[in-house]
Amino acid sequence: MPEGPVIELRDVCKRFPAQPPVRALHEISLRVDRGDHLAIVGPSGSGKSTLLNVLGLLDRPTSGSYLLDGTETTTLRDGARTRLRGDRIGFVFQSFHLLPHRSVVENVMLAELYGAWKRRGRRERALAALERVGLGHRAGFLPGRLSGGERQRAAIARALLGAPSLLLCDEPTGNLDSRNTEAVLDLFAELREQGLTIVIITHEQEVSERAGRRVRITDGVLVEE
Ligand code: ADP
Ligand code: MG
Repeated sequence: MPEGPVIELRDVCKRFPAQPPVRALHEISLRVDRGDHLAIVGPSGSGKSTLLNVLGLLDRPTSGSYLLDGTETTTLRDGARTRLRGDRIGFVFQSFHLLPHRSVVENVMLAELYGAWKRRGRRERALAALERVGLGHRAGFLPGRLSGGERQRAAIARALLGAPSLLLCDEPTGNLDSRNTEAVLDLFAELREQGLTIVIITHEQEVSERAGRRVRITDGVLVEE
């Protein structure tokens, strides 16, 4: 594993073309170290998802620099960014995006559908990822038979399949009741202890309080709390 911070943003700006142009991110500088758990809070429309898309290499900043595990990403070609994303980053969303007619383990395996070079041992790694989130006993179930919390844990197993160093989560507990929210937060705590870095967008106080660090975005400007 590379030394140094997992995430280093320097003066990142993101503008969207519109009339007038939208300033979604304004001169954001942020450093996140390995094993950190960072919560991003802020009102709707403030730039949280845009920031997560930049961190996830789904979108490029208009200006500024983004080092991921020490690699400057803003100047990489699309193909290299896609490979780096596959190697380093897992995504978790509010809705679980599980295919209803595929078993839990098959859903986890689908994470690498497009990475043919990685296919060897995929089922074994999917089963190991399910064990890691405490769902080994549900591998053969269809998603419809799982509770909401179990579905989100299956989605987290899918995000872990490529052995990422960074987990990016957009409102991961937004569809869960408080008991299942606690279970997912306990899982995040375990994953952090194993060295995973977690960045999580949330509106829920109980979720941001469990994070080690909290930043707030307002109109594209980030402030540490
Ligand atoms: P949040 O996730 O905090 O609700 P977003 O990051 O989705 O906020 O959006 C931040 C701002 O950027 C908003 O004003 C939104 O309308 C604008 N925006 C987001 N994506 C686009 C886009 N693809 N094109 C134009 N404007 C966008
Ligand atoms: Mg959003």
